[in-house]
Amino acid sequence: MTFRATILTLYPEMFPGHLGFSLAGKALERSQWSIETVQIRDFAEDRHRTVDDTPAGGGAGMVLKPDILAKAIDHVSGGDNRPRLLMSPRGKPLTQQRVRELASGDGVVIVCGRFEGVDQRVIDARNLEEVSIGDYILSGGEPAALTLLDAVIRILPGVMGNALSGTHESFEDGLLEHPQYTRPQVFEGREIPPVLISGNHAAIEKWRLEEARKLTAERRPDLLFDQPVAK
Ligand code: SAH
Repeated sequence: MTFRATILTLYPEMFPGHLGFSLAGKALERSQWSIETVQIRDFAEDRHRTVDDTPAGGGAGMVLKPDILAKAIDHVSGGDNRPRLLMSPRGKPLTQQRVRELASGDGVVIVCGRFEGVDQRVIDARNLEEVSIGDYILSGGEPAALTLLDAVIRILPGVMGNALSGTHESFEDGLLEHPQYTRPQVFEGREIPPVLISGNHAAIEKWRLEEARKLTAERRPDLLFDQPVAK
């Protein structure tokens, strides 16, 4: 069972991009996931292969046409139950929980917007789930799609060499991660906290949890609200 990503874009050359490197790249070579791009422009019908038009009601910029995009979507996801996502700053903010859900499925179809965005009717008619990667505006959905896929692929079974290194990450348990240290033991006069080299695993766990809670309370108190049962 391979996780399949299909990307609808005007810039297919942007893929797999950074996902061709490092652990994701190796996993791609091993066929632990696959990526296919679809050029939206291939579905345009006129001589100029037009994919966009001016906004109804006036205003700056261009809007991706619903008819062309719908044809591209139907081409890839007929009879396929993968979620259809549209990268969009108006979408639901992406969370580690949604990333985990997506990683447990068969794959995703992702539409990358450009210009001012996409005609609302194709979002409604093709039931696109709008997903945002943060409260800022990118010039296109491609880097957002790569970011979402990066988060999903790293937690696919067998992708991370050391399976355990994924378990105590920020957000995995509703907390930001504790600070990390490695050798040398003294760096510019700063020491590694002694507890971490004490060999006392219970004390280390306790210290890490306390630090994680302190950091989360300082930086992201919002995360502490909807905690299930703190461990
Ligand atoms: N006019 C739109 C922004 C368009 S930006 C608005 O104000 O809502 C162009 C494209 O970039 C979008 O269609 C979307 O696919 C992508 N994009 C921009 N910011 C994004 C974000 N924060 N998260 C996900 N996709 C984003």
